[in-house]
Amino acid sequence: MNKTKQQAAGGTDAEIAVSARNVTMDFGAPIPAVDNASFDVEKGSFLTILGPSGSGKTTLLRMIAGFQTPTSGTITIGGKPVDAAPAHRRSVGMVFQKLALFPHMTAAENVAFPLKMRRVNPADIPGKVETFLNLVKLDGYADRRPHELSGGQQQRVAIARALVFEPELLLLDEPLAALDRKLREEMQLEFRRIQKELGVTTINVTHDQREALVVSDDIIVMDNGKIQQHAKPVGLYRAPNNLFVAGFIGISTFMDGVATNEGIKIGNDMLIGTLTKGVKAGETARGAVRAEQIRIAPSSDALGSLDMMLEGQVEDVIFEGERLTYVVASDRLPDVKFQIYHHDPHEFDLFEPGAAVSFGWNGRDMKVFPCHPQ
Ligand code: ATP
Repeated sequence: MNKTKQQAAGGTDAEIAVSARNVTMDFGAPIPAVDNASFDVEKGSFLTILGPSGSGKTTLLRMIAGFQTPTSGTITIGGKPVDAAPAHRRSVGMVFQKLALFPHMTAAENVAFPLKMRRVNPADIPGKVETFLNLVKLDGYADRRPHELSGGQQQRVAIARALVFEPELLLLDEPLAALDRKLREEMQLEFRRIQKELGVTTINVTHDQREALVVSDDIIVMDNGKIQQHAKPVGLYRAPNNLFVAGFIGISTFMDGVATNEGIKIGNDMLIGTLTKGVKAGETARGAVRAEQIRIAPSSDALGSLDMMLEGQVEDVIFEGERLTYVVASDRLPDVKFQIYHHDPHEFDLFEPGAAVSFGWNGRDMKVFPCHPQ
């Protein structure tokens, strides 16, 4: 097979399973659904395409699946153009939000279906079906029909059916969106376990940032049809490329002002921060600091040493189970409401609304972005 080797993001000579070059899909709307997307997916890795509704995620996945032909650009799987083989011959497994299990077939018959379609030797089919039902932990459920299975179990059948013919590539289009939160989180870990166990290259589409961070080796963030950032989960979280990514991943407080070499100036007030690429001192800028990077205490002495400290009043306290979010206002910055996480199981009701507090952050934790699009 004609597999391409390329320099992956980490500088290693990785084998590339899927490659997109300058891919655009233009439906004739004011902006293309997908605009000049280029990326590589390393063999055996788990890539998530993350973005808000309408950002172009599904369109990109549909082009990779070969359901839609790009207006321009090329997509290759295993070095071959996507449209080189008819859809049913491609080595691509798929799981969608709408399951489309066959209701009249048992779990085992559903899983056997793609093997029959591919004319696998009938003698080999029962063994393969059993292996893949075991993989998704459904041994003992082979004879049940979909309506006799829970939502999570039905998803497991769909996963087994997508993987049983051992495809080169697994495509997931929001397969967990319809499940309740606890089941969704359990299935996220299951996807990760199964993907690692089989080593199948996987591309997943979601608008759920937590899911993306939990399951992925790499994440592509999309907005308005454009790739905003392609990075590892930790890199994406720690070093967002631009304001969109900073706002989409995690909770941040934003502050508008003018960039300086020390951070951002709002009126006569200097807030300590770090300039990101693309912003210069003197330009209009927006500072962003994450809720977990702001420390809060009853007094500035209790805060310890921080580059930036402010006094404020607690306006709201939101209890979220494992943590609290304080909403804090400061007289120095009347337009800004600071969102500050606090998790200390021993001091869960540290401050009431109206309490006077000190809070602050270190300069490296407030990122100053340019306000113009990059
Ligand atoms: P969601 O999370 O809501 O599914 P998405 O990020 O997957 O959104 P897409 O479904 O890829 O977004 O849609 C991107 C844009 O392309 C949208 O503006 C959508 O209306 C448009 N679009 C998608 N498919 C078509 C089509 N077949 N014809 C015309 N416009 C389309």
